[in-house]
Amino acid sequence: MNNYDIVIGLEIHVQLKTESKMFCSSSANYFGEKPNSRVCPTCLALPGALPVTNRQAMENAIKVGLALNCKINNFNRFDRKSYFYPDLPKGFQISQFDLPVAKDGFVMVGERKIRINRAHQEEDTGKLIHQEIVGDKVSLIDFNRSGVPLIEIVSEPDITSAEEAKNYAKKIHQLMRYIGVADVDMEKAGMRFDANVSIKPKGEKELGTKVEIKNINSFTFLEKAVNFEVARQLRAIDSGEKIIQETRGWIESKGETVSQRTKETSPDYRYFPDPDLPPLNFDSEEIETIAKTLPELPDAKTSRFEQDYHLNPYEISVLVEDQNVANWFEETLNIYSKTQGISKTEKAKIVSNWVQGEVMRVLKELGISIWELKVEPASFTELLLMIDKNRVSKQAAKQVFSEMVRTGEMPEKIIKDLKLEQVSDVLELGTTIEEVLADNQKAVSDYKAGKDSSFDFLFGQVMRRAKGANPTALREVLKEKLK
Ligand SMILES: [Zn+2]
Repeated sequence: MNNYDIVIGLEIHVQLKTESKMFCSSSANYFGEKPNSRVCPTCLALPGALPVTNRQAMENAIKVGLALNCKINNFNRFDRKSYFYPDLPKGFQISQFDLPVAKDGFVMVGERKIRINRAHQEEDTGKLIHQEIVGDKVSLIDFNRSGVPLIEIVSEPDITSAEEAKNYAKKIHQLMRYIGVADVDMEKAGMRFDANVSIKPKGEKELGTKVEIKNINSFTFLEKAVNFEVARQLRAIDSGEKIIQETRGWIESKGETVSQRTKETSPDYRYFPDPDLPPLNFDSEEIETIAKTLPELPDAKTSRFEQDYHLNPYEISVLVEDQNVANWFEETLNIYSKTQGISKTEKAKIVSNWVQGEVMRVLKELGISIWELKVEPASFTELLLMIDKNRVSKQAAKQVFSEMVRTGEMPEKIIKDLKLEQVSDVLELGTTIEEVLADNQKAVSDYKAGKDSSFDFLFGQVMRRAKGANPTALREVLKEKLK
C-alpha cells in the first residue's frame, strides 16, 4: 500500500434547477410525476422538432463555473455526443466538447487544492425501469427526465484517497447549494458521481491504467466504491495481473464493483458541433453581472468567521456548512450584540453553542431545514437576554426553546404559561426563607455556632420550597437573613 500512489479524478453530474428543460419548454420538475407526462416533440426526439437553449440553465452553468474558480468561455458551443441507448431517443446527447462553458478552476478541500479541468453543460437522459409484468421481464422508458439540464464537473486526477474523494464531492454539493443553482437532492439523483481510479508506483510520473466507476449516487457509496476499487487493483498488481481499462459499476448489495464494459468496446462518441444550435456568446459584462449575484462562498465565509468571531475551526465548519444556518447565526448575533453586557466574542460563543447544540438537535429531530424553524433570530435573542438576566435558568431555557420550536410563541409568553421564570424577587424569596428558618431552628443555631454545612442544608430546603428560585439571588438573601 505504502509503495503506491492512489490517483482519483471525479466527474460529477449535477441537475440544474430551472422551470423548463435544457432545449424545450417541457417542465423540468419531473420527479414523482406520471411517466411520460413532462414531454414534448423535442425531448422525445420526434422528427422535425428543434432545440432552443434555455438561458436560465446557461446562467446557472456560468454561476457554477465562477463558484469553481473557473475561467468562463465567453464563446461556447454545443456538440452532439453520439451513442445508442434506449433512454436517449435522439441517438445522441447534446453536450459540450472542445468549448465548454467553464474550464481551469479549482476548489479547496481542507488545505488541499483540487483542480477542475472543466464544467460543461448537457442534457439528462430518460430513465429505464426494469420490471416484471405478468411473468414477463420488461423494460419501460420514462422520458420525463429526458432533456433536464445537467452540468458535468470534471476534476483533474488530484484526489489521493477515497475519503478525499468524498470530501471533494461534499464540497461541490455545498457550493451548489450556496449558489442556489441546484437542489442536489441525492435521493432524487440530482447529483451523481463517476470516479476514475488508478494506482501507480510511488513517485512515478506516468499514470496507471484507470478504471471508471459509473453512476454512484451517494457520498457513502462513493467512498466505499473507491476503497474497494483501490484494494482490488492493489491485489491484482500484487498477484501479477495487469489492470485493464474498463468501466465498472458499484453494486451496493454486494459491496463490490463489477465490470460493465472494457476498453475494446468503449464507444466512439463522434463529437461534432450541433447544427441546430447556434454557439453562445456571453460578453464579459454579462458574466460580471452574473458574478455579482453570487453570495459569499463557504471559504470566504469561513475566513471571515475566524476573523470576526474567533470560534474554533470545528464550530465554524458546523455554522458554515449550510448558509441558512450561518445566516441565522449571524442575524441572531447582530441583534444580540446591540444589547449591553458581555463582549461580541463572548456572545458569538454563546450563540454558536446554541446552534451546535439545541438548534441542530431540533433540526435533526424534526428533519427540517433552519428556514423552516418557527424560531426567528429576534425572538431567540429575547430568550438569550432572559438567561443573561437570570430570569430563566440555562436548563429551563432549553425547555423554553423546545416550546418556541413547537408553538412559534415568544419566550415571554412561554415562561409565564409554564411558570419557568426564576424568582429573584427579594420580598417573595424573603417570605419563603423566613418560613424555612422557622421550621429548621436547630440548623439555624448550628450554622450560627459555626457549622458551615448547615447553610447548604437550609439552602436546599429553600430551593425545594421556592420552586424556580434564582440560586444566586437566593444565596444572597439567605446569607443576609442568617446574619
Ligand atoms: Zn420537451
